Amino acid sequence: MTTGDPVLAIDIGGTKLAAALVDSGGLLRRRHEVPCQPSRRGEGEALWGTLVKLVEAVCADALPGGIGVGCGGPMRWPQGVVSPLNIAAWRDFPLRVRLREMFPGAHVRVANDAIALAVGEHWRGAGVGVRNLMGVVVSTGVGGGLVLDGRVEFGETGNAGHLGHVVVDPDGPECVCGGRGCLEAIARGPAVVQWALDHGWSTAGEPDGRTLVAAARAGEQIAIEAFARAGTALGTAVASAAHLLELDVVAIGGGLANAGDLLLGPARSAFACHARMEFASRCHIVRAGLDVDAGLIGAAALVVCGDQYWPSGAD
Ligand SMILES: [Zn+2]
Repeated sequence: MTTGDPVLAIDIGGTKLAAALVDSGGLLRRRHEVPCQPSRRGEGEALWGTLVKLVEAVCADALPGGIGVGCGGPMRWPQGVVSPLNIAAWRDFPLRVRLREMFPGAHVRVANDAIALAVGEHWRGAGVGVRNLMGVVVSTGVGGGLVLDGRVEFGETGNAGHLGHVVVDPDGPECVCGGRGCLEAIARGPAVVQWALDHGWSTAGEPDGRTLVAAARAGEQIAIEAFARAGTALGTAVASAAHLLELDVVAIGGGLANAGDLLLGPARSAFACHARMEFASRCHIVRAGLDVDAGLIGAAALVVCGDQYWPSGAD
């Protein structure tokens, strides 16, 4: 890539696709996003077509200096062959190969979306200067990504840090992964909304994370309890991670983080309850400093920052 050229950053989640050009300072230009409906198997090409249109709208006549992508997991890394749990249309979808065909010669780097969030927060957000950071996405799914001693921990296949499938209640609800009682089964947006509906919450609007946040802010008890239950599960899982990894900071992003202290307050309480030893309890749970754009900025950093967040030899 030519130093200084903006990078195309793409964030692929269960309910929306977002893309932007990002400069070497982390500033976004031409940010676009499109909603994507829950997809089914066999609709992979339709979803790819939606992504192509989005990318064309962002790039227009500009040729990006590289492409960084955060995508829901799991995936095969560094090949960028993705099978997002919450995007049924893509199973073993060769995302990196497709983007390379679209932009011949460009660097294309694909990582888990929570790894992208962790990188974004470490580069320009709440984790600047922090040595050991976990980024967590609480959205359609729940993901986690690790920056340890300043380097990204990808694991063998790019899936290290998958906090969403840490078990917080062995007798809890079934998870999309096939397991039971995972953090994701309790704290993913659709599960939080469903729990509220099952316990008597109703809304004149669409029952989703946004309307549930509004209800909780308006003082509706069931909505407040729904976030408290999710936050408690989140803080419990973070306590386990802090013991395993001696984390300094855990930055929480994703759509449900918009609930703010409704989610993070109970998360911090559960964390304080379960993280008793000083090496774990010193970890801080904070909201992602880059808010909804943490994943996009982190995806860009995978390319902009050379080998700081990407092992040399993994291209
Ligand atoms: Zn699971």
